[in-house]
Amino acid sequence: MDIRIGHGFDVHALAEGLPLYIGGIKIEHTKGCVAHSDGDVALHAICDALLGALALGDIGKLFPDTTAEFKGIDSKILLRKVCDVVKQEGYKISNIDCTIAMQRPKLRPHIDNMRQTIADVIGIGVERVSVKATTTEKLGFEGREEGVSVDAVALLMKE
Ligand code: MG
Repeated sequence: MDIRIGHGFDVHALAEGLPLYIGGIKIEHTKGCVAHSDGDVALHAICDALLGALALGDIGKLFPDTTAEFKGIDSKILLRKVCDVVKQEGYKISNIDCTIAMQRPKLRPHIDNMRQTIADVIGIGVERVSVKATTTEKLGFEGREEGVSVDAVALLMKE
């Protein structure tokens, strides 16, 4: 059996007055991610996990942030394009797990919505998509609410 594991990691700075998109949904907050795209740090980490499993580089290689085409783009579109690549390579996604490190706001009420949204974009069952959230106990840049980081892993199986 041909199984591939991939890991992704992404960080975005937070700034006042920007919309906050995480895990494919918009969350009401006073700050949002600074980015060339919509700044969905969770979807970016998941994209990198999928690309990493196939040793195909990272999201920045596929979608350069110097390109006007990707300015302000909905990261769900990027994730869908990465899933197309996975399919083209002959793999299917077994499961995804990610952890969002963010001090505020509380993400727990949004977790199931994120899981369903990600599952719908990828085209797999919601039971195969795990989203977890943690504060960093006010330590580090996440704890100081200067930024958000996300770790993600993905398992692919040859079809
Ligand atoms: Mg990013």
